[in-house]
Parts: sequence; structure tokens; C-alpha cells
Amino acid sequence: MSLNLFIVGPSGCGKSTQAKLIAKKYGLIHLSTGQILRDEISAGSGFGLEAKSYLDAGTWVPDNLTFDVLVNKIKPLGYQNFIIDGFPRTLNQGRIMELFLKKNNQSFSLLIHLNVTFAEILARRVKMGDEFQDTDRTDNTPEAVTARQKSYDETIGPIKDYFKEKGKLFDVDGNRPIEPIFTDIVKKIDNLLVKSK
Ligand code: AMP
Repeated sequence: MSLNLFIVGPSGCGKSTQAKLIAKKYGLIHLSTGQILRDEISAGSGFGLEAKSYLDAGTWVPDNLTFDVLVNKIKPLGYQNFIIDGFPRTLNQGRIMELFLKKNNQSFSLLIHLNVTFAEILARRVKMGDEFQDTDRTDNTPEAVTARQKSYDETIGPIKDYFKEKGKLFDVDGNRPIEPIFTDIVKKIDNLLVKSK
């Protein structure tokens, strides 16, 4: 069985950390939509030029653009065995991806949602200080951080409802250290793998 995983949560919730651990444990390719978009911007590609103003403002890049850059990355993988971090950020993205995978004889295995309060995210930023500043990122200004939280708050509800209804949502309490969160996610994925046998 292939594992086609997605992980989302508010910006700064630790989803990249979890995605990397999951990828390592299950031998998956880790892709971050934010990083892919930042790479396009650094490369000065057409996609990057179009995406830049959205990233700087902390708002979501249009669905079609995000989807196109992502498909370019999963095509070489045969559309399987990946964990995509930061996608779907809109319900439309989730539905398009679900249909797209189906068309390619794959399925949307699971959406992991890291539930972290904005208060916890701000506390982590204060605690980590400069270490939090990713030198590759120009969108770590207080304005962009607040805008990203607003974008997330406005779009996450319908995404969760949709995948919950399909039994494909794993909502995990992310207001905890890395290890217990990872343990819970592993239990859930192992369960999926057992059921599919
Ligand atoms: P992240 O690295 O996940 O915090 O994402 C950084 C920025 O990239 C976001 O603020 C958006 O502008 C853009 N972005 C990342 N993922 C998506 C997505 N799935 N849909 C639209 N925009 C995205």
C-alpha cells in the first residue's frame, strides 16, 4: 500500500519537524509547498514571480499555481509515497488533489492536522528568539505572521470538516513536545497500514 500523506496546521506549529520525522520512519519523500514556492522565487521562475507577493503578505497563493508547482514534484514519484507539508490550505486544493490522485490510481491516505493555539506559537517564537528566524524566509515579519494565522483561521474549518467526514482526518494536539506528538501520529499511521493489509 502506498502512503500519500498531508500535514497542515498554523504557521510555526512544527509541521515540518513532524513531516521530516514521518518521512524518515516510513521512507517517504517530504515536500513542503512553502519551500517549493520559496525555491521558485529564488530561481526567478514565472511561478516564483507570480507567487512572491502572496508569500510576502502571508496570504495563500492561488490554488491553480500552488497545485501546478506541486504536481511537478509528485509526478516523478509516480504520485505516491510522500508527505506534503502545508497542503491543502483551501478546501478546493484538497478536493482537487483527491480527484487528481484518484485519476492516477492513487488515494489520499490521510490529512494530519496539528492543532496548536496561536498563544503557543507566539510563546515558542519568543522562547526561540533569533533561532526561529529562517534565513531563507523574508516572511517572518510580525505582520506576515499575523496574516498567515488569519489566512489559516479563515480556511481550515471546511478542510477539516471535509476530510473528517471521509474518515481521513487525524487531528492531533500539537501543544506538546515533539516526541509525544510523533508517537501519536505513528500509532495512527501504523493503524492505517494494518487495516490495509
Ligand atoms: P509555509 O512555509 O508553509 O509557512 O508557507 C509559506 C507561504 O507559502 C504561505 O504563507 C503562503 O503564501 C504560501 N503557501 C504555502 N503552502 C501553500 C498552499 N498550500 N496554498 C497556498 N499558498 C501556500
